[in-house]
Amino acid sequence: PKPGSRHLHQDRQLWAPLTLADFEAINRCERPLPENFNFAGDVLDQWAQKEKTGERPANPALWWVNGKGGEVKWSFGELGTLSRKAATVLTEPCGLRRGDRVAVILPRIPEWWLVNVACMRTGLVFMPGTVQLTAKDLLYRLRASKAKCLVASDEVAPAVESIMSECPDLKTKLLVSPRSRHGWLSFQELFHGASAEHSGVRTASQDPVAIYFTSGTTGSPKMAQHSQGSLGIGLTLCGRYWLDLKSSDILWNVSDTGWIKAAIGSVFSPWVHGACVFVHQLAQFDTDTILDTLTSYPITTLCCAPTVYRMLVQRDLKRYKFQELRYCLSGGEPLNPEVVEQWRGQTGLQLHEGYGQTEVGILCANLKGQKIKPGSMGKGAPPNDVQIIDENGNILPPGKEGEIALRVKPTRPICFFSGYVDNPDKTAATTRGNFYVTGDRGVMDNDGYFWFVGRADDVIISSGYRIGPFEVESALLEHHAVVESAVVSSPDPIRGEVVKAFVVLSAPFKSSDPEKLTLELQDHVKKSTAPYKYPRKVEFVESLPKTITGKIRRNVLRDHEWGRT
Ligand code: ATP
Ligand code: MG
Repeated sequence: PKPGSRHLHQDRQLWAPLTLADFEAINRCERPLPENFNFAGDVLDQWAQKEKTGERPANPALWWVNGKGGEVKWSFGELGTLSRKAATVLTEPCGLRRGDRVAVILPRIPEWWLVNVACMRTGLVFMPGTVQLTAKDLLYRLRASKAKCLVASDEVAPAVESIMSECPDLKTKLLVSPRSRHGWLSFQELFHGASAEHSGVRTASQDPVAIYFTSGTTGSPKMAQHSQGSLGIGLTLCGRYWLDLKSSDILWNVSDTGWIKAAIGSVFSPWVHGACVFVHQLAQFDTDTILDTLTSYPITTLCCAPTVYRMLVQRDLKRYKFQELRYCLSGGEPLNPEVVEQWRGQTGLQLHEGYGQTEVGILCANLKGQKIKPGSMGKGAPPNDVQIIDENGNILPPGKEGEIALRVKPTRPICFFSGYVDNPDKTAATTRGNFYVTGDRGVMDNDGYFWFVGRADDVIISSGYRIGPFEVESALLEHHAVVESAVVSSPDPIRGEVVKAFVVLSAPFKSSDPEKLTLELQDHVKKSTAPYKYPRKVEFVESLPKTITGKIRRNVLRDHEWGRT
């Protein structure tokens, strides 16, 4: 069969559809990327067919709850019909055309998934953002992306209105709300009357499917563009080997909708494998809701940021009986080995850490069945060739610290992004020799496991020693007093810079004598890791500055230390 000549509409399917085995072969470069590919038509609608023939278990495709009795369960068939209606809304009353960019600023509500699939069907470029964005953040994103349409909920509507006059490209505002609002089209109203007859656009594999903004941990978020193929086909292997997904699984990825982690964990990886995407609206993050949800629903697979696990292990987890939980994942930030041990000790479950980026998806991971070395990010995730390289692009041997890099020449991995939007210089700057450089430093050991040292900018150089903050933070975390910490460089008249730790204390230690505790923590670090790494300065704080994705912003603390604003 010649994939390029297939019709998208399932009823007019002329050729055998691509299978999961085909997708895997494409990722391994054993077969070419098809010219045309559309995730909605070629994957979601295929699962809808398999539902009809009983080739897929009766799990929903999307299972949403809000913790207040609200619940939505859609099969792939229902998702198909409803997303066609949403596609009609976007193309008819909103008048959007293939290639137009749509900013979608919604909380974790089912409409986020509807609009996402509707954009895929119609060849629109989906651009999600969290509802925690401020008017200034929104302005930056709308102007940088020249979005034609914005889909938002009540909580962001006033902020949008305050900056609208500065966004000349924005033609349509769609409000997802039971109430109407002056100057906005009502999604609900239009959706109600919209036709489910929508044949979809025959997109090319290379057509843009989404623009994800990076977390902005180190500066302004960058707009990373992905294609139908890079997300729709490129996450197949990570879904199988890292997330261990089958169509009978129910995956709860706790991440906010605004980040690549939502694309990986709440859309493409689970759905390519026909698994169920579980969503809790989680207006506010709290450990009670997470634990109750795992006890009340048959969730098999859980994916959270390390910060969530750090909070969860503070609880007495043995008191909870999780219904079906069998597999746990962490990603987005380094995961301290202590947390891996505590989670396993208390729940009996192994934590599988993955290391990824908005630009590439998952680079390294602790794959299912692989021996886990706590504190390591695992091996290069298939089919990626991940290496540690030097400043000239040469591969460094095991044990040598350098920059974590992904081979992109002579063959670009399928999962690789198309580039930063309107920024060819920045895109080009990520290439060194045959590699894409991540901007993160690490070491590979003799067994091929990767160990994260820190973002290149976060590495501390003190008295000639190079010190990675993660190792010091992990040593601190072994101490009962420490819930979490951030380690940064601080100026010192003699040494140039020294290690400083900002420490959040656990409840029982909050009233301890700070000087005594400082000495105790310093002593602990000296025993746990090479003594030159110990924090010469310690400051106790109530909380750490974080990105909305929950990542520690060490650069904010560092700038403060050095008197930079
Ligand atoms: P920006 O590029 O805007 O500064 P960001 O790099 O945080 O933000 P993301 O693409 O969301 O934006 O995050 C990718 C980065 O997160 C990685 O480059 C790495 O620094 C960090 N990261 C992700 N997973 C892990 C992990 N398992 N261990 C250590 N670091 C991780
Ligand atoms: Mg980055």
